[in-house]
Parts: sequence; C-alpha cells; structure tokens
Amino acid sequence: MELYSGCINKLIEELASLPGIGEKSAQRLAFYIINMPGDRVARLAKILTEARENVRYCTECFTLTDREKCPVCENPHRDHKIIMVVENSRDLAAYEKTGKYDGVYHVLHGCISPMLGIGPGDIRLKELMVRLESDVAEVIIATNSSLEGETTAMYISKLIKPTGIKVTRIASGVPVGGDLENIDEVTLLRALEGRVEL
Ligand code: ZN
Repeated sequence: MELYSGCINKLIEELASLPGIGEKSAQRLAFYIINMPGDRVARLAKILTEARENVRYCTECFTLTDREKCPVCENPHRDHKIIMVVENSRDLAAYEKTGKYDGVYHVLHGCISPMLGIGPGDIRLKELMVRLESDVAEVIIATNSSLEGETTAMYISKLIKPTGIKVTRIASGVPVGGDLENIDEVTLLRALEGRVEL
C-alpha cells in the first residue's frame, strides 16, 4: 500500500534525489511545500526554472554567473595577474567571503580523480592554459587537500612550470579531505598567506 498519494510520493522522491537530502528531510520538505500558500510555491518553481535557464559559466573564470562575465572578472580593481585555481564556485565564494583576496579566480569544476575516471580533459584545465597566455604573474592552486585535490595540484603545477609563471599552493593545515567551503575564514586566510612556491 502506498503511504501517500502519487503526487506526494513523486515530490518526496524528487527531493530525496537532491544531494544531502535524506528520505526524512525529503518528507519534511514535501509536506512543508504542500502547506505553503499557492503563490509562494509558484514563485519557488519560477525561481528554480529561471536559475536553471539563466545561470551560465563566466567566459573568463568559468564560475557560475548570470552575466557574460562574473562580478570578480568585471572588476577593474582586482589584480587580474593573480589567478587562484579552485575546484568549484562554492570554494570561490568561501574565499570571496574573507574579503581579503584581490586577485581573480579560475574554476575547474571538479578535480582529477583516476578512481572516478575523471581525467585532466574533464575539468576546465585547457581554459586555464589559454588564460595563461596573457600577462599572468602567479597562479595560486587552491584545490582541496584531499587525494584528488593534491593530484590535481601536482598535475597543474607540472603543466604550468614550463611557462615560467610562478605557481604556488595554499598551505596545508587545511584539514585533510576538508571541503574548502566548510573551513572558517581565518584558516582560509592563513592557508592563502602561507602559500608555498611549487
Ligand atoms: Zn569570472
């Protein structure tokens, strides 16, 4: 016997398929949504659709944005000669939150993971190398300190070395396997300030 109506089951199933949402949270959210006023549900649905349709990659750093270039890349006061390489837009947001980094970013959208079959061609590495053809003084590799993050950092550093551009790696001390976005701002800044040349 089905516990809930078909519509409710479908909603619970969809919500449960989202990352970090288990069966119980999905049920709670589903019933919350069903009890929301109709216009709020309509607004939520519209925002979801609009976000999906309008969000794209910044043509320069490849972070997610709803314009051609993200606010960081468009800002003339940022130092465009310093590029921090991060795994995803959430890591970029973590560094932006510190308010102390004035360079620009490059978002890889993943990291090299032989175990998961993700190779260098599957992340935005080619795009990074193209950017390095312009005037760049330093590339700061800020991938996570997980095995995949370290593998990616080593790979990138080997790739950039022949260009003569300075390559640095943020200091460890960032907990191993810790997602950058979960690390507090002080630790992030310390990792950035303590970066070492590779
Ligand atoms: Zn950008």
